[in-house]
Amino acid sequence: MLPVKQLSGRRFIFFLVLGVFALFLILRFFVTDSSDMGRCIFCDISSGKQPNTELLFENDEFVIFKDIKPASTYHYLAVPKRHTESLKALTKDDLALVDHMEQGLKSFFEKNNITTTDALFGFHLPPFISVKHLHMHGIAPRSTMSFMNRMMFKPDSGWFKSVENARKYLQDL
Ligand SMILES: [Zn+2]
Ligand SMILES: [Zn+2]
Repeated sequence: MLPVKQLSGRRFIFFLVLGVFALFLILRFFVTDSSDMGRCIFCDISSGKQPNTELLFENDEFVIFKDIKPASTYHYLAVPKRHTESLKALTKDDLALVDHMEQGLKSFFEKNNITTTDALFGFHLPPFISVKHLHMHGIAPRSTMSFMNRMMFKPDSGWFKSVENARKYLQDL
């Protein structure tokens, strides 16, 4: 009896591991926007190689463009030109970059008469990132966001960090 029991236990673990792996692959597919794994869509956009995406602001460090799935009336992304996977790949030395991106988004909002007080600025955390290239979200008005979008961009959840908390996170590294 014992070897049979052990075998079925092992088979169970084998299928469990297989199932978890399959789920991981499926999630990866959904979470990753680009099907072409060799290319980074945000590297293409920030270097001006994506004619379909209009760059609304550009300097040496980052660009600003519209999010393709807006979570409110106004939804923009600040994307650094240097490829970095996410907030988790940043160090203390990148605090200035985070500040510049925030200032860039806020002054872009002000220039376009978009509220910066009823607004949300922050980053998704891996593995909950749609594109594996650092991007800061700027969303307004915050108060009219749907329940689902509030969940997706829930500040200081396990999947989204407000800019203030991202700054604290980097300072404590
Ligand atoms: Zn990239
Ligand atoms: Zn995001």
